[in-house]
Amino acid sequence: MSPATDITEVVPVVGRFAPSPTGPLHLGSLVAAVGSYAMARRVGGKWLLRMEDLDTPRVVPGIADDMLRTLEALGFRWDGEVVYQSRRTEAYRSAMERLLKAGLAYSCGCTRSEIARISSAPHGAEPVYPGICREGLPEGKTERAWRVKVYDELIAFDDLFMGRFSQSLASSCGDFVIQRADGPFAYHLAVVVDDAESGINQVVRGADLLSSTPRQIYLQKLLGFPKPVYGHLPLVVNPDGTKLSKRENAVSLTDRDLAREGWTLLFAALRFLGQSPPPDLNGAPCPEILAWGVDSFDPARIPPTPAPLPLPTRADKLPSRR
Ligand code: GLU
Repeated sequence: MSPATDITEVVPVVGRFAPSPTGPLHLGSLVAAVGSYAMARRVGGKWLLRMEDLDTPRVVPGIADDMLRTLEALGFRWDGEVVYQSRRTEAYRSAMERLLKAGLAYSCGCTRSEIARISSAPHGAEPVYPGICREGLPEGKTERAWRVKVYDELIAFDDLFMGRFSQSLASSCGDFVIQRADGPFAYHLAVVVDDAESGINQVVRGADLLSSTPRQIYLQKLLGFPKPVYGHLPLVVNPDGTKLSKRENAVSLTDRDLAREGWTLLFAALRFLGQSPPPDLNGAPCPEILAWGVDSFDPARIPPTPAPLPLPTRADKLPSRR
């Protein structure tokens, strides 16, 4: 059985989309929205929405609402209330306390530059924390963060689209930060607490988070949470393979007339995911295209590698229903 078909065994599916409102919904997040939506809804599952607005200095006021309007205009319908991470500090604190009580977390006083100096990470790679404060805060250091202890074991999982992925946390990141001393809880801790509490059993998101997944699986294990099924979608890049800039990436209500253009964006996202929306849906209302995407979605056709987003050409636009 291919990894992409395993999902039929997880019933009922609870999927989710968890954008960070630090800028308007972009082409990469649109692909994640379409992919996670289709993967949940095709088997009659739920699709929940969570705003990952923990990193308050980067959160742009008004963007979360803009994202919700954009998703609605594109035909997405979510189950239940939208969860805002900024309102869930207590849940993260209690998970943090459990880790501290179990001796699995400790406070660290190292600065970024100290860590970079000591660990021998290749240029541009995240340095591996060398464990300086693991046995207690050295004299003269003040708490800057809390880290979780990692052990030398390989964490492996079968990704729905990318196949088997494994990573040793000890050699790829070392003990990692779960809270900064100035307050905010780290993304990895928040995401596992939220996914567990919402009963998420299927996480479909961009491949930029593939290498974060072992840290999340590790935290789930420590906290006794169930492990969702993971599927990482290929990244949207420029035709020359480079990363899309914020500007090239933006798909927001403020930038685009979604009533006219929405269908082209949904076509592009579905095609990017290897699906072939029929020409008679050209110009159709967004909910109709999304419904086709859900009914016809074939996960086995999702390509494994990064690619540009195939925005429709002029020829695609004819005949339009408008
Ligand atoms: N908030 C993350 C992002 O927008 C996604 C997190 C996740 O799906 O786990 O990239």
